[in-house]
Amino acid sequence: MKRIAIVGGGIAGVSAAYELALRQRAGEPIEFVLFEAASRLGGIVETVRSDDDFVIECGPDSWVTEKPWARDLAIELGLESELVLSNDSRRKTYVAEGHTLIAMPEGMRMMVPTQWASVLNSPLISWQAKLAYLREPKFAGQLKAWALDGSNSAGDESMHDFVVRHFGDEVADTIAAPLMAGVFGGDIATLSARAVLPALVALEREHGSLILGLQQRMGAGKSSAPIFTSLKSGLEALITGMESRIPERSLQRGFAVESIERSGGGWQVHATSVAGGPHPAGESFDGVLVATPAATAAKLFEPLDSRIGELLPQQSSSAIVVALGFAADQAQAMRIPRGFGFLVPQRNPPAGEVLLGEEGFGDEAGDVAARRALLACTFLDQKFPHAAPEGAVLLRAFFGGPAVPSLLQQDDATLIYLARAELGRFLGKLPEPSIALARRWPNSLPLYAVGHMERMAELDVRVARLPNLRLIGNAYRGVGLPDLVHSGRTAARELAASLVAA
Ligand SMILES: Cc1cc2nc3c(=O)[nH]c(=O)nc-3n(C[C@H](O)[C@H](O)[C@H](O)COP(=O)(O)OP(=O)(O)OC[C@H]3O[C@@H](n4cnc5c(N)ncnc54)[C@H](O)[C@@H]3O)c2cc1C
Repeated sequence: MKRIAIVGGGIAGVSAAYELALRQRAGEPIEFVLFEAASRLGGIVETVRSDDDFVIECGPDSWVTEKPWARDLAIELGLESELVLSNDSRRKTYVAEGHTLIAMPEGMRMMVPTQWASVLNSPLISWQAKLAYLREPKFAGQLKAWALDGSNSAGDESMHDFVVRHFGDEVADTIAAPLMAGVFGGDIATLSARAVLPALVALEREHGSLILGLQQRMGAGKSSAPIFTSLKSGLEALITGMESRIPERSLQRGFAVESIERSGGGWQVHATSVAGGPHPAGESFDGVLVATPAATAAKLFEPLDSRIGELLPQQSSSAIVVALGFAADQAQAMRIPRGFGFLVPQRNPPAGEVLLGEEGFGDEAGDVAARRALLACTFLDQKFPHAAPEGAVLLRAFFGGPAVPSLLQQDDATLIYLARAELGRFLGKLPEPSIALARRWPNSLPLYAVGHMERMAELDVRVARLPNLRLIGNAYRGVGLPDLVHSGRTAARELAASLVAA
């Protein structure tokens, strides 16, 4: 019998455990234990369903439809009837200019336009930026030559530089920067173009012009489906669906792994109970899948190969999510624009008076931090109507970036107050919500800095020298749910197969 340890029970670790449970059931001679420090599985994936029918996602709210693995998993788990596509008839995103919300041009794919008329009529960008868009296809040859030139394309560049080469500074600052901050909580001057936007980098290598490349792809009918997919009862159903198929004896919730040591031909894993109590002796395993956030993985690998820690993302951004649900009678007086939500560019945080201590909450420092840290708001009842009862409004504020650490210490009531006050600057004064919750996700989004893919290639070589150890999770090749399901399952399958064959 071969024994495998999985360290970390976010979606990557649970997907790996689910895959091993399937192998076990199919008769493969394997045993496994999933160690999760928290008392629940799922990590950042968490859904709260309220008594009054709000489905509130505390972490991810959906996945990108184009990538099949989360959908395939949902179907495998019997959740096909739960699959729900985003309501793309309402797909409009606004960008905050001061306290005004200006619509992003229709038909944008990230920062690449697919409809000329809406770009040329957009009040969001100046005529110089429109001219830059119009010119980009004319430079297709030069852009392609640059991408294919060994000395350029062998390396990497920041997302900022990539966007500026195509569309100039204004598009980078006004469109690309807030879009990426709203997803990664990171700065486009730091983020790696190759790691974060592989599809656009590939499009450049093939077509030079991103606009022409996308037009051809759309002409080939590749992107007509709604852009996001979710589950009616919430994304946590993916976790609970997998969890119910994993034998309870294989789940060690509330156990944090402190170290992994070589022992004989295998590994000794030391875990301690987070609730305290006696320290159990280490357990022996033939293989280990490490599915923790980057900082924990770096700590676990330090005694085995200290270079591994240097290759992992050195920074992760923290996020705070505050959801505010307004029942239909409260929502009647609200004037929320039609759309999926808005982004707040960080280049010039909105001015305006500081909100002090109204209703007994908030202080000046908290207000200022909240203003700097608000990166985005999603109108969830419009993006996914199943998430709120008929006529109700469900807003989700996303705080991130460098100002967020000072907010992490604030209690829930203060965060909810700050979110309501900040969103009110853009949406008009908000009534008292009928439901509100706050979640803090410290160091949850690893920043793939320039050179990330080269570091990942070196990481693969070094990890391969440690027999039957694998790294999975959002620190490596994608932070999205489909990628994590796929990489978790693939790594588990391959590790089990190589152990069984040995
Ligand atoms: C606010 C927010 C919104 C997002 N929205 C989306 C979205 O809409 N769509 C999308 O596709 N992606 C989204 N993402 C990204 C996605 O949710 C994450 O990348 C993904 O959930 C991470 O999964 P993971 O398994 O790699 O890590 P995690 O979920 O971080 O899980 C790691 C687990 O390891 C455990 N752990 C840590 N140390 C130890 C230890 N020593 N021993 C045992 N266990 C340990 C932790 O407790 C945790 O449960 C979002 C992320 C955030 C923060």
